[in-house]
Amino acid sequence: MALLQISEPGQSAAPHQHKLAIGIDLGTTNSLVATVKSSMATVLQDEHGHALLPSVVRYMPDNSVVVGHEAQAQQSHDPANTIASVKRFMGRSLKDIANSAHIPYRFVDSADSGKLLQLQTRAGLKTPVEISAEILKTLKARAEKSLGVESGRGELLGAVITVPAYFDDAQRQATKDAARLAGLNVLRLLNEPTAAAVAYGLDNAAEGTFVIYDLGGGTFDVSILKLTKGVFEVLATNGDSALGGDDFDHRIYCWILDKIREGDSHFAPLGEQDTRLLLTKARQAKEWLTDNHEAQIVCRLSNGSLIDVTLSAQQFVALTQQLVIKTLTPTRKAMRDANLTLEDIKGVVLVGGATRMPQVKQAIEDYFKQTPLTNLDPDKVVALGAAIQANALVGNRSDSDLLLLDITPLSLGLETMGGLVEKIIPRNSTLPVARAQDFTTYKDGQTAMSIQVVQGERELVADCRSLAQFELRGIPAMAAGAARIRVTFQVDADGLLSVSAREQTTGIEAHVVVKPSYGLTEDEITHMLKSSFGSAEADKKARMLAEARVNAGAIISAVTIALRHDGNLITAEEKQAIEAEIEALQAISETDNAVVINQGVDKLNHATEAFAAARMNASVSRALSGKNLDSINL
Ligand code: ADP
Ligand code: MG
Repeated sequence: MALLQISEPGQSAAPHQHKLAIGIDLGTTNSLVATVKSSMATVLQDEHGHALLPSVVRYMPDNSVVVGHEAQAQQSHDPANTIASVKRFMGRSLKDIANSAHIPYRFVDSADSGKLLQLQTRAGLKTPVEISAEILKTLKARAEKSLGVESGRGELLGAVITVPAYFDDAQRQATKDAARLAGLNVLRLLNEPTAAAVAYGLDNAAEGTFVIYDLGGGTFDVSILKLTKGVFEVLATNGDSALGGDDFDHRIYCWILDKIREGDSHFAPLGEQDTRLLLTKARQAKEWLTDNHEAQIVCRLSNGSLIDVTLSAQQFVALTQQLVIKTLTPTRKAMRDANLTLEDIKGVVLVGGATRMPQVKQAIEDYFKQTPLTNLDPDKVVALGAAIQANALVGNRSDSDLLLLDITPLSLGLETMGGLVEKIIPRNSTLPVARAQDFTTYKDGQTAMSIQVVQGERELVADCRSLAQFELRGIPAMAAGAARIRVTFQVDADGLLSVSAREQTTGIEAHVVVKPSYGLTEDEITHMLKSSFGSAEADKKARMLAEARVNAGAIISAVTIALRHDGNLITAEEKQAIEAEIEALQAISETDNAVVINQGVDKLNHATEAFAAARMNASVSRALSGKNLDSINL
């Protein structure tokens, strides 16, 4: 999704009117909350001075819920009730989750909440939305305390929450639902790479193409953002949903096991608790090696044996070389998808705690042939950008500040006769947006209308993605083309669409909120856009053919009805001639040649000229009968 900035006349709030708003990075591994204080974006800490809140939720035996470090520490003791990385399950069904057999949770495919999954915990069935809401509640409480909301220093107006650029509608909706459940007013969902770019001030400083390289705990995402005339556009996203800092921990863990086996070839496999312990030690060693030459790993296993090994930074780099190289494959793919060369890249932004590792930074620098931007904390930059955006959205802005707005990535429209798409909201419209267009009936006496909502750039419904379908019933029976049905498309600031249709004379209305459970990925969007460029010519042909067929159908039906009512106005021969043309046109309509069909329409029009004149005369004389000339204004 791309973003547009607009500058607005300044409404800079006086200090005492400063409105409270927060930005939240709801991460797979860690979550954070930030705010803008005295014009500076700052991450808020808990009472122990921690900025990062591990995204781990534990349902306790006494019915309480614990979130963060404490829950993380208990993961190995109570795995089924201690949920980590819940972000991976947001808006997903069981079949979306690869390798669920290796995950220690008890999944249930829920029947009533559609296709979305639930987790069985000691506190009952929990949806990923509810679990995420616990994380958000904790961050909200932290913010309220730190901002003095509790002591009456103001009211928390809302939050900007970040989501990966590739999150689809279902995942975005789930994130919004979680926020609502946590009692947060969602000002906007913001793409993580865009938030990072905002934190670096790229939105008001520069034009150009930027790479956002995000290596988190368990996921790797690379996004290419283009900034032109104030519009942020995601040119490409790629990544690996099973590659992150955890894999580096795992390499150290395997190295420790090898070391143990070197000294004891009969060493028994480790239990769950020891595995967890060693993985934690491995993570600490990894983080230590970011700033030190060697790490000593010391711990005692449950069987009493002592582990004491030393890992050098050099050894660590060798152990993890393959992982670092692995991130370059999606990076290259994203560059290729966006059709870019290295010279096109103006800057590289590092996001995610795992980009702190010197070997990762070095690999990026070698590949892009430039030093990446690192002056902001890579694991805080997304939250900082979200806070800046939240601050702007509630109106704490000075004149020079800009407001970021999302835009629609694909056009939205509806199906008209002949399987054609009528675009109502064109691609790249700024959100929120509402557009209305009037439609009419195709047939005499038509009392219902089926409205098919589609997304895409192509001319034919069959080539676009259908989002929803609904019916407007109770249209008063009128001649074809007489009814006025106003269809309104509305997309809110988070990209969610609602469509309504209203018959203008009676006021009857139908409405649908489009919440597809499975939206489009950026890849699909890119694919749909590419195919629309490639097939513009073929589409034009198809549209012409469909339009010709619709015209032919309309005239055949109109003439047939007219013959039935007013056939007595012409001679039997004239009537036969018209009927022959109708048959001929019917046959031609089956062919694929729009030009020939249009010619057939012209011929039928021509053949009915005398008949039309006769009908006109008849209706004029009907209207005039019994009136004198003075009362007629010609
Ligand atoms: P996510 O986006 O998945 O929530 P983060 O951006 O918080 O994750 O990144 C978490 C990862 O960053 C973990 O694997 C953690 O060990 C790693 N990390 C944090 N600090 C450092 C450091 N100083 N050196 C190396 N890795 C680090
Ligand atoms: Mg992250």
